[in-house]
Amino acid sequence: MLKLYEKYLEVIDEYLKKCFEDQKPFIHCKKGCTDCCDRGEYPFSRLEMEYLMAGFVKLPVDVQKKIRQNIADLLVQKPAGEKFLHRCPFLLAGKCALYERRGIICRTFGLAAFDEVDGKKVVKLPECCKIGLNYSEIYDSKHGFVDMEKFQSFGTGNLLSHPPDLNYMTKELTKGINGLEFGEIRPILDWFK
Ligand code: SF4
Ligand code: SF4
Repeated sequence: MLKLYEKYLEVIDEYLKKCFEDQKPFIHCKKGCTDCCDRGEYPFSRLEMEYLMAGFVKLPVDVQKKIRQNIADLLVQKPAGEKFLHRCPFLLAGKCALYERRGIICRTFGLAAFDEVDGKKVVKLPECCKIGLNYSEIYDSKHGFVDMEKFQSFGTGNLLSHPPDLNYMTKELTKGINGLEFGEIRPILDWFK
């Protein structure tokens, strides 16, 4: 199953690369920027978790120890039954310790996503638009939405008004595909309870 998942990731990575190219005018990601791994819940499916942990066991023992300690510390801080936004335990010294094996949600960090809510297409901007990064140019901080007036003034065509053919919200990308079973999805910490 993990081999099949690796093949699937190749397709997804290729697709997401095009999405990043399409959205280039609003992307400000650069090396060392880790805000997207600093505050979140990081939903991972069972399959993504298996893949991540298959890499974890190959990490040097001292690195494994640091990650285990991060997880233990976070589990102590985590309030029962409440949403808990936290730094990802796999982020070490400003880098993902398992970048090649990161989850699907991690691969979409920084992109504007298109979702369907109550039958209507909606655009979701990346969280870092609020701190002057991706899409901050068109983020209306007062209302928490895309400022369409500002967006149109950019003259970048219909980027946000034409959703891509594949919705890359995690819930879509982790649907069972071609024999791949993703299994249950949980916030990353919940896999270690
Ligand atoms: S797995 Fe890696 S890329 Fe994903 S949130 Fe954690 S540190 Fe960031
Ligand atoms: S998605 Fe945002 S926070 Fe993450 S690397 Fe890109 S600019 Fe930085």
